[in-house]
Amino acid sequence: MATIIDGKALADDIKKEIAAEIKGIKEKINFTAVLVGENPASLIYIDKKKKACAEVGINMNTVTLPKIITQKDLENTLKKLSADKKTHGILVQLPLPGQINVREAIECIHPHKDVDGLTVTNFGRLALDPPALVPCTALGVLHIIKSSKVSLPGAEVVVVGRSNIVGKPVAMLLQRENATVTICHKGTRDIAAYTQKADIIVAAVGSANMITAAMVKYGAVVIDVGINRQPNGKIVGDVDYDEVAKKASVITPVPGGVGPLTIACLLQNILSAYKMQTNT
Ligand code: NDP
Repeated sequence: MATIIDGKALADDIKKEIAAEIKGIKEKINFTAVLVGENPASLIYIDKKKKACAEVGINMNTVTLPKIITQKDLENTLKKLSADKKTHGILVQLPLPGQINVREAIECIHPHKDVDGLTVTNFGRLALDPPALVPCTALGVLHIIKSSKVSLPGAEVVVVGRSNIVGKPVAMLLQRENATVTICHKGTRDIAAYTQKADIIVAAVGSANMITAAMVKYGAVVIDVGINRQPNGKIVGDVDYDEVAKKASVITPVPGGVGPLTIACLLQNILSAYKMQTNT
């Protein structure tokens, strides 16, 4: 039976370290989340972030904008926050309504304040050297793999999913650790042919139970990023957890695996952003 990662415990350790460091900083660290409209899932994520910020001593503000906001007005809000010396971290809660060009909006965030790591500058620096602010979920996945004492150099990793927010940055971080990384997506002809050989599988798809036991080799490390709400309200990942846990050596549950690390790594990014801006 696999070792089950306790994402909450790992996240609590990170939060304790951050809280201790922030205690020694006299200035208030201010983080602003920009929320457009009232997507129920976004409201839940904003609440979670607010609670986590309060736990470690970060002051979080939420700017709520109407769903019908224009591109220009959203961009002006982000530019104003970027210019505000008292705002150290900025995040736009995704998804955004259809009229908004997400990429152009994100580019209005100053790279030093871009705590989601999604500006071209930060993403480019992840591909080059040294990385600046890296997408939080990708950092969380790396933290889990490292904490499970799995050796990354030479490991065969398959990342299923290639989004900018998870799949691509995970793959880039893991290849920096000298793993051999394959990325699968909708265009991949036979995903199982790759996953069956993988020492580590990272599933970031958004499709319930897509990774079955038959797709996993004995002893593999399986990291499940997916969050899928079932018709009965239950939250499940992308991995058929009960069956895959019988074969894997390490597995993350959903909920309670990657999710808590994403928030903890956001707090880490906010602190890093503050330090970058204050040269501390
Ligand atoms: P996206 O929808 O942006 O990306 C999904 C990726 O999965 C795409 O690259 C897509 O391929 C690929 N994909 C979808 N269906 C298939 C399929 N049948 N076969 C192969 N590849 C497929 O999602 P995100 O990356 O934003 O999120 C992925 C999951 O992770 C979601 O469930 C989301 O809720 C969850 N999530 C969890 C977080 C956490 O903290 N735990 C944080 C962020 C996300 P293609 O590019 O070809 O379209």
